[in-house]
Amino acid sequence: MAVPYGSELRVGLEAVRLAAKVCQSVQSAITTEALAKKDNSPVTVADYGSQAIVCRALKAAFPNDQVIGEEGAAELRTEAGRAFLEQVVREVSAAGVNGTPEEICDWIDHGGSSEYSARFWTLDPIDGTKGFLRKEQYAISLALIINGQIELGILGCPNMQMPDGTVGVIAWAIRGHGAWQQSLSSPESPAQAIKVSLTSTPSELVFCESVESGHSSHDWSGLIAADLQIHREAVRMDSQCKYLAVARGDADLYLRLPTRKGYQEKIWDHAGGVLIVQEAGGHVTDINGQLCDFRQGASLSKNVGMAVTNGRVHPIVINAIARHAPKDA
Ligand code: AMP
Ligand code: MG
Repeated sequence: MAVPYGSELRVGLEAVRLAAKVCQSVQSAITTEALAKKDNSPVTVADYGSQAIVCRALKAAFPNDQVIGEEGAAELRTEAGRAFLEQVVREVSAAGVNGTPEEICDWIDHGGSSEYSARFWTLDPIDGTKGFLRKEQYAISLALIINGQIELGILGCPNMQMPDGTVGVIAWAIRGHGAWQQSLSSPESPAQAIKVSLTSTPSELVFCESVESGHSSHDWSGLIAADLQIHREAVRMDSQCKYLAVARGDADLYLRLPTRKGYQEKIWDHAGGVLIVQEAGGHVTDINGQLCDFRQGASLSKNVGMAVTNGRVHPIVINAIARHAPKDA
C-alpha cells in the first residue's frame, strides 16, 4: 500500500532536521552566565530561527497551507528588535539557509495563523524552553491536520538517544502507517518502528511528567501514583519528548494535570506527539477521557489537561485521575 503524504513527510523531516541544527548551535553556546542572569535570549533566537526555517520550507512546498505556529515576528520588526533579528539571520545562515532580515520575518509570520482551517500545519519551533535553557530535553514539533484529524506528526528531539546510544532522534507517524524513529543526524540510516510498552500492571508503570510543577501538578500526580501503587520515581522531562518516551516504551504514561482552572493546552504542544503515540499503539485523551478536538484554532479549548498511555492502562489511569481531582479543578 502506498504511504500517503509522502511529500509532506519528506519536506517536514528535512525542515525539522535543519531547524534542529539552529537549535543545537544556539544551545551549545548557552553560557552559565546567561543562565544565572535568567537570560532568555538564546531560546528566543533559536525559536525564531527554527520557526523561520520550517515555515520557509512549508511555504515553498505547500503555499496554500495555513500554519499555526507559536511565534510571530512583530518584535523583530521593531527598532529595538533589530540586533536580535541580525542574530537570527546569522544562525539561520549558519544552518545553510540564506535570507534577508525581511524574508526571515516573512517566513516567521507565515506561521501566524490562529484560526482553524480544513488543512493546516501546527508548529512548536522549540517546545520545552526551560529544558532547552538547562541543556536538557526539548523538541521541535510539527503536525499536519486535515479535517480536524492529525495525519502526520513529526518530533525532532536533539537530546534524546537512539537505542545504540547516538544522541538525537527524529520520530514521525502517518495515520495508519505506524510510528518510526531515526537518528536525527543520519537521514540515510534505517528507520526503526516504535511501539508502546505492554505493561498492564499498575504498580509496574513508569510514569513521566513535566519538570515544571507550574505546567502539570506534581501533587495531583503524586496522589495518583500512590493510589496505583506505582513504586518507581516519576521521570521528569521537558517537552514533547515525553510523547516519544511513551511511544517507544521508555515510559508507560504521561499526564498533564492542570495546575489552575481555565488553562487551555496549545495545539502545538501536543499535535506532533499525539499521532506518534497513537500509531505506536498507545492512547491519548484529555484527563476526562475525551478525545482531543483539533478544530478549535490554536487551543484545545474543548479539552482539559492530557492523559497519554500505552493504551492498556488508560481506563485505570483516567479513573485514578478523577478520584484525586482537587476540589477546585
Ligand atoms: P513541558 O515542557 O511539558 O513542561 O511543557 C512546556 C509547555 O508548557 C510550553 O510550551 C507551554 O506552552 C506550556 N505551558 C505554559 N504554561 C502552562 C500551564 N500553566 N499549564 C500547562 N502548560 C503550560
Ligand atoms: Mg511548547
